[in-house]
Amino acid sequence: MSGYQKVLIAIDLSDESTRVVARGRAIAEGSNAEVHLIHVIEPLSFAYGGDIPMDFSGIQDEIHQQATAQLQRFAQSNNIDAHHQHIVLGKPEVEIHTLAEEQGIDLVVVGSHGRHGFALLLGSTANGVLHGAKCDVLAVRVGQ
Ligand code: AMP
Repeated sequence: MSGYQKVLIAIDLSDESTRVVARGRAIAEGSNAEVHLIHVIEPLSFAYGGDIPMDFSGIQDEIHQQATAQLQRFAQSNNIDAHHQHIVLGKPEVEIHTLAEEQGIDLVVVGSHGRHGFALLLGSTANGVLHGAKCDVLAVRVGQ
């Protein structure tokens, strides 16, 4: 079986992202694959838009700038090209699927907290990415 050609690593920019990126890169290096990195910013209006009559654009711009700088730091310390760094606005699982299809990704790498009980019922980004993915998905165990 041939290895992967394009690997997309999804990070939430938490400290756990270091482990997720390391695993994704290790797999990509083994098969000489191209590596892409994505972080999705959830618009504040998704959470508060209908309830609070407020203009969020200034705060949203600030979040965007900070997230871009953080993504660049992760990418630079892992030798990931600028044009393979993706900052997108939306719902994480939806945007990860969309980018994966646009870029012809054959492996998506996400972190997974191995939730159980009620938290499992609520679901997670890893579950959301797995369901509906048109390519392989690797869930890297993070947290306890
Ligand atoms: P969660 O299920 O939300 O705890 O997140 C688990 C994993 O989903 C993270 O380790 C990331 O791989 C991915 N993820 C969560 N939020 C985002 C986000 N905003 N952008 C990209 N990936 C994310």
